Amino acid sequence: MSGGTARGPELPILANGASNSSGAGEPREASPAPGSDPSLVRADDRMVDGFGRRIEYLRISVTDKCNLRCVYCMPMEGLPWIPKSQLLSWEEIRDIVEVMAPMGLRRVRITGGEPLVRQEVHKLVGFLRAVPQIEDISLSTNAVLLAEQAAALADAGLDRVNVSLDSLRDDRVEAIARRAGVAEKIRHGLEAADRYGFDPIKINVVLMRGRNDDEIEDFARLTLDHPWHVRFIEVMPTSANLDVSREEQVTCDEALERISAIDRLEPVEGPTGNGPARYWRFPGAAGSIGVITPMSHTFCDRCNRMRLTADGQLRPCLFGDLQTDLRGPLRLGQDLRPHIERTLRIKPERHLLEQGSDVGSGGLAALSQTGG
Ligand code: SAM
Ligand code: SF4
Repeated sequence: MSGGTARGPELPILANGASNSSGAGEPREASPAPGSDPSLVRADDRMVDGFGRRIEYLRISVTDKCNLRCVYCMPMEGLPWIPKSQLLSWEEIRDIVEVMAPMGLRRVRITGGEPLVRQEVHKLVGFLRAVPQIEDISLSTNAVLLAEQAAALADAGLDRVNVSLDSLRDDRVEAIARRAGVAEKIRHGLEAADRYGFDPIKINVVLMRGRNDDEIEDFARLTLDHPWHVRFIEVMPTSANLDVSREEQVTCDEALERISAIDRLEPVEGPTGNGPARYWRFPGAAGSIGVITPMSHTFCDRCNRMRLTADGQLRPCLFGDLQTDLRGPLRLGQDLRPHIERTLRIKPERHLLEQGSDVGSGGLAALSQTGG
């Protein structure tokens, strides 16, 4: 670090001062009819899609609800919520993971909506921990409820967390989340994540011009002293955020250019579970800086995942309108494997998102509907 002057802010880091089928477009049921295709699940138990990508990661949404209303995600008035009877129970999610694990699933992430607004997520963590093939269990959270649940989650076997934090200033956190009084809880949540040893801790920052882009350097400096992995994310368009995704887009190239002016950045491999992110580090820094660039440079060629919505739809891509219903067959006691193989078969080569347009999002109102 040049001159050793630029140190990161100390903790506390915040300065005081489809699934849902009710989305705008109805998701399409995938066709053709289910049928086992042995070419998709290889003999060595690796799920490989039609483009040769190995699929070993499942993002599991446990609710479409949220206690925040981030300006780039959920509309103020909320969305038509999934009826309770359609939500998968913890046991049903476990049953699905138990079918996919022998097919090659190795890592899972619990997400939402805000997963911690659903009661007893730690029970699900415990169920997933008991599936022998599952090597890694992570959670995406806004951290508002993390302090009160961290002990139970750690006891149940949660490995790590991704925390969404779009500003280091309380007033901005609450303006972006459109909820007063949450910044302190988020700070306590992040401290709890540290205290309970979730490792690595990744911090997701959605970049928005005029709302937080002047904090890019401050976020980068955080990694000097904290073993955190700060990841900048470009806003992806959905029907609820077209103004933000059209007018406030900041590319990660711009963020990297500005961060490089602080000090030399060296490319690094990144922490466990580095899906679409690419990582750099300041020399000698405790943490790293990552970028997730769905808009400026797609990473679909490296995609390794599928998504399970809270109402039991298996989606091969975050965007688009393709999904396979697993809840119905599961509740009828049918074999899920052909349905999972069919979903692998229809996984698209890439998403078709365009800045400020929801055409490629498949009618998705918010990422909270599919588990972003
Ligand atoms: N509520 C949890 C949270 O915020 O971390 C989990 C669900 S949230 C949908 C998962 C991630 O998606 C968060 O990091 C959030 O910032 C990000 N996200 C949501 N909408 C987005 C959008 N339109 N573009 C880019 N990232 C988005
Ligand atoms: Fe909620 Fe996460 Fe969406 Fe923010 S990004 S509204 S915390 S689901």
